[in-house]
Amino acid sequence: MFQHLETLPADPILGLNQTFLKDDNPDKINLSVGVYQNAQGQTPIFTAVKKAEQELIDAQLTKTYAPQAGDPTFLNQVSRLLIGDTLVDELGDRLEAVMTPGGCGALRMGAELLVSTGFKGKVWVSDPTWANHFPLLQSAGLSLTTYRYYDEATNGVNFEAMMEDISNIPEGDIVLLHGCCHNPTGADISSEQWDQVISVLQERNLVPFIDVAYQGFGEGLDEDAYGVRTAVSKLPEVLVANSCSKNFGMYRERTGVIMVVTENGRQTQAAKSHIMSAARRCYSMSPYHGAGVVGHLLNSPQLTAEWKSELNKVRERMNRLRVGLAEGLNAAQSRINFDFVSRSNGMFCYLGIPQADVLTLRSEYGIYLLESTRINVAGLSEDNLPVIVERVTEVLTR
Ligand code: PMP
Repeated sequence: MFQHLETLPADPILGLNQTFLKDDNPDKINLSVGVYQNAQGQTPIFTAVKKAEQELIDAQLTKTYAPQAGDPTFLNQVSRLLIGDTLVDELGDRLEAVMTPGGCGALRMGAELLVSTGFKGKVWVSDPTWANHFPLLQSAGLSLTTYRYYDEATNGVNFEAMMEDISNIPEGDIVLLHGCCHNPTGADISSEQWDQVISVLQERNLVPFIDVAYQGFGEGLDEDAYGVRTAVSKLPEVLVANSCSKNFGMYRERTGVIMVVTENGRQTQAAKSHIMSAARRCYSMSPYHGAGVVGHLLNSPQLTAEWKSELNKVRERMNRLRVGLAEGLNAAQSRINFDFVSRSNGMFCYLGIPQADVLTLRSEYGIYLLESTRINVAGLSEDNLPVIVERVTEVLTR
């Protein structure tokens, strides 16, 4: 049966990480992976998460199945964290949430829901977008195409081009938007620009599918939710895929949620039943542990306060590193003005250096970034920053 099967090439991001691990350069630096790292290069467990986890385990009396839609406390709390209490109450039964295996599971279940409606249009994604959006959505049967987004000349969003493209999308199509901290570019639209995008979606009867993987990593928990909140308050139909991997550090626990807003409670219940049916066909129900922990944490005001303060420190540290990199590079060379690095949001940004230099940094110095020039800002540290500045400058000014 398997004699004709050829081994597939590794995933570009995960594969590069394997190459990094095998590299015997003692000074190697990994700026390619998508996880937060502290000054020691570790991805620690948030103290508040560890406490919530211990309390949950101590109180747990059974491992029987959780409700199929997911842990009700988790679903309620995580919806309130993202959408806000007032709007959740206002939306009432127009909003439903289903627990998923991470943000990827949420994206896939959202895609399955769209397919189950008989939707035959296109899903429009930013150019560029997170590489995994394509396989996740296409393999559910959706067809994807791009709208213009990133401008290499300014290293920011080409908002005019984005608006022009979105204004020409056929009515009824889906527009995938990054809720905050755009992956891979770190270039986000402002609140005013969100308002404009949402007005066009409203005029043209387009449905947003908002991917939120970094709430709290950009400007703050509420600030990062601006787009989602505005969309659900203004539009009749919205899909939101939300991941707890980064902001709760839950990566391997596969903790996420798909949220759906429709015109009324009846439609939302129908949509929810289709999501659960898709889940049943794929994996029956999502893993519970991560959701149980996040739900327990958010249900405790004390643990929530502790987690928020830890999350603030993570964000502030990434911002310091980002500014340090921009200032260091600007001081050391004049070929590229790196101010845009300090303006970027979240964990990633493009470095905007020639591709040949990306390969030289890798082969000569063991500094790994993606070929798109995406770097993980959290891969920088107070210790490696001077070395990175020196080597990038050396390669750029050869
Ligand atoms: N969307 C984006 C844009 C992401 O960057 C990620 C994580 N890399 C995800 C969704 C989902 O991640 P996970 O499935 O690990 O929660």
